[in-house]
Amino acid sequence: MERVVSGIRPTGKLHIGNYFGAVANFLKMQHEYDCFFFIADIHSLTTHPTPADLHNNVKHVLAEYIATGLDIDKCTLFIQSDVPEISELYTYMNMNAYLGELERSASFKEKVRLNPDNVNAGLLTYPVLMAVDILVHRAHKVPVGKDQEQHIEMTRQFGKRFNRLYNVDFFPEPQAFSYSNALVKVPGLTGVGKMSKSGGEADAIFLADDESVNSKKIMRAKTDEGPKKQNQPKPVEVQNIFDLMNLVCTQDVIEKFDSDYNACNIRYGDLKKQLAQDMEVFLKPIRTNINDALKNDELLAKAAKIGAEKARASASQTLKDVREIIGFRKFY
Ligand code: AMP
Repeated sequence: MERVVSGIRPTGKLHIGNYFGAVANFLKMQHEYDCFFFIADIHSLTTHPTPADLHNNVKHVLAEYIATGLDIDKCTLFIQSDVPEISELYTYMNMNAYLGELERSASFKEKVRLNPDNVNAGLLTYPVLMAVDILVHRAHKVPVGKDQEQHIEMTRQFGKRFNRLYNVDFFPEPQAFSYSNALVKVPGLTGVGKMSKSGGEADAIFLADDESVNSKKIMRAKTDEGPKKQNQPKPVEVQNIFDLMNLVCTQDVIEKFDSDYNACNIRYGDLKKQLAQDMEVFLKPIRTNINDALKNDELLAKAAKIGAEKARASASQTLKDVREIIGFRKFY
């Protein structure tokens, strides 16, 4: 069975952009592929979280993954730092990653621009660690958004370079994977782009937040003054509300508001109220599951332990072969 790897950085709670852009695919993939889903806690060290924040964020994402339906019997769900083989392979792969190509990485340039006071070596070699996450399981497919395609290309480069250097055919060339041609992009509530944690509290609807918090945010989402002429295209912020409705509302509800918009008699208050209601229908069972999982230390411990064992079984086989290929041969 083809192997799939995907990770998410534990930087806080998951929002519905994460859910529809990533987790929804994982839920399907776990039945069709040999999946390794991980919580990228080593990656998150580049921004220097406090130990307490780091632990809480990892715990939250673990609970959220389980609560949304990732099945630890079907997939391998693990915490990156539980697999020391990843750090070992990262050391080896860094020897064949060159300064020029790392400096050219779009995400490195972006991070330097955003945080000029924290340009650490881990940030520079971030693409190597990302490649290692994939290569360590010798994966074939990586479900990613458009913004991540350059990282997959670098992963292929590093894998091929290793194969060439040692004249082996060891690492497969992983391919980006998506179920649909059009990648899902969930817009934020502030009308300025895709939903993201960095867009601030008001921009994102978090899976774990209470109904009142989510409803308030939706009711405050940006719209305009309303259509002045019939059958006009919608401005971005209004289209965003319709895009969010597409995720959780039924087609007839969307069509009703669409025709109200085209006829210039739409009431944005009603539109947002409907979105808030349907969002709550969607989120309520997930939130209940998250809260249950967060209180269930035994469940989290069991999930993390099983995941670590399965991930290490795969990674340690790769490392055994890599050490042999590199020439680390035991004298004892
Ligand atoms: P992040 O937390 O931004 O690193 O995102 C983790 C995963 O969620 C990645 O696979 C992203 O592509 C996906 N994701 C994050 N935000 C969105 C969004 N607004 N729309 C669709 N997918 C998203």
